[in-house]
Amino acid sequence: MKQKRKLFIFIGPPGSGKGTQAELLTREYNINYFSVGEILRTEVRNKTKLGREVAAYLRSGQLAPDEVVSKIMFGKLKRSRKDIIFDGFPRNVDQAVSLDMELDKMKIQRVVFEITLPTKKIVERIMGRRYCVCGKTYHIKHNPPVRNNVCDSCGRRLKTRADAKSDVIVKRQEIYLLQTAKVLHFYKADGGYLLKKINGDRTIPVINQEINNIIKELK
Ligand code: ADP
Ligand code: ZN
Repeated sequence: MKQKRKLFIFIGPPGSGKGTQAELLTREYNINYFSVGEILRTEVRNKTKLGREVAAYLRSGQLAPDEVVSKIMFGKLKRSRKDIIFDGFPRNVDQAVSLDMELDKMKIQRVVFEITLPTKKIVERIMGRRYCVCGKTYHIKHNPPVRNNVCDSCGRRLKTRADAKSDVIVKRQEIYLLQTAKVLHFYKADGGYLLKKINGDRTIPVINQEINNIIKELK
């Protein structure tokens, strides 16, 4: 029997490893990965109309307006035929409710991975984060490139994210605790979502293995 299409929703504080784990899954499965942060930062870099609209929110660590991100993500959901990973959406209960209504219109299995990380580890994770414009991400200590500051896959020079400043990190952490954590309550109460809590305070391959085991057990 053909398996139902799946949506994996990654929820966790900034720096908990959502992007890192999602990127690994895209290499292991035939799956589409959509990171709201990545999509919006690309718009800002390309100075599109949308990018100009959301630039100030991103700079200060605020959430972009619900209508803007919902529209983008619903579009991805409808156009993709494969399994999907959502990273950074939904980030508050309003977004979770509107996504829930979209999902009710389609046949799709819903899995939520909550990745946890103690607050005191967040700053170190984010300050050490580097990325390449080709999409690969690194950490100077935990996941360094072979050659210092040079991308393993394409040879370009690595970059630091503009929001890797301690006041912005504190702001994003605050929003996570105030708004995004409530999204987990919503999913717990709903019952239509399989919820899996993952301890993000372990090495990248160990976490990847656990997520893989969960995915393999899905029917
Ligand atoms: P998020 O997408 O949740 O904001 P990232 O995937 O960007 O988090 O990870 C933040 C930083 O921490 C990156 O530099 C990444 O390489 C590093 N990292 C991710 N997972 C781990 C881990 N399990 N242990 C150590 N460092 C990690
Ligand atoms: Zn690269």
